[in-house]
Amino acid sequence: MSSTDIAIKFETLNKHYGSYHALVDINLEVARGEKIVVCGPSGSGKSTLIRCVNGLEPHQSGKLTVDGILLDDSKTAVRDIRDHVGMCFQHFNLFPHLSVLDNCTLSPICTHKIPKAEAEATAMEFLTKVRMDQHAHKYPSQLSGGQQQRVAIARSLCMKPDIMLFDEPTSALDPESISEVLDVMSDLAKGGMTMMCVTHEMGFARKVADRIVFMDAGEIVEIADPESFFTNPQHQRSRKFLDQVINH
Ligand code: ADP
Ligand code: MG
Repeated sequence: MSSTDIAIKFETLNKHYGSYHALVDINLEVARGEKIVVCGPSGSGKSTLIRCVNGLEPHQSGKLTVDGILLDDSKTAVRDIRDHVGMCFQHFNLFPHLSVLDNCTLSPICTHKIPKAEAEATAMEFLTKVRMDQHAHKYPSQLSGGQQQRVAIARSLCMKPDIMLFDEPTSALDPESISEVLDVMSDLAKGGMTMMCVTHEMGFARKVADRIVFMDAGEIVEIADPESFFTNPQHQRSRKFLDQVINH
């Protein structure tokens, strides 16, 4: 893979929280347009892994390159990378005092200095994509969890990211909302977005992921295409995890 085809590259990356070794010798290349699903038991380092990508967590050794930018200690590197990377969390973190539309236009107007009319047109385009255009003038408290999460995704897309990170975006939602949000994520995947998703939705993983990254105790234990991972996991720890998820 030539360097321009690589969206995210971890090279022997290590991360500690104090004396706790949270990420151990992580090596991973994510191609442009690739969809990675990260799975593994609770506490295995999934959130830490994806939070490193947009500089929410610093690492102590190794290299991390995102969209060709080496993520070092400089403020400019973190700022430049966040310009290219959108993130969507379990809790939607919408601004409660702003309408759906204003949530979506705030950063484009304030950070990217986009004129208001243009920012609103873009916001409506993405709100339509997530099927929330009819709710543009509502406030977050007037929406269901799934609707709020779809707005949070639209809000990220308004910043025109090259890469989207998801950290358990559906784990706080009811079943109907889960499928609404997964549909939006599947559409995004079909549109060619580079995605790294932490999720326990194994049906989604199977359908959408190009590769599954399985983590345990801060290590990447297995990287495989979904079919191989689900039908023929190579490691005892992957098998144990799948048994628990499937028998859940
Ligand atoms: P996962 O997302 O797979 O559940 P995390 O990446 O959140 O795992 O956490 C990995 C490990 O790092 C856990 O043992 C967790 O307790 C620890 N950890 C996470 N965040 C912090 C923090 N801010 N300070 C100290 N330890 C942390
Ligand atoms: Mg987590």
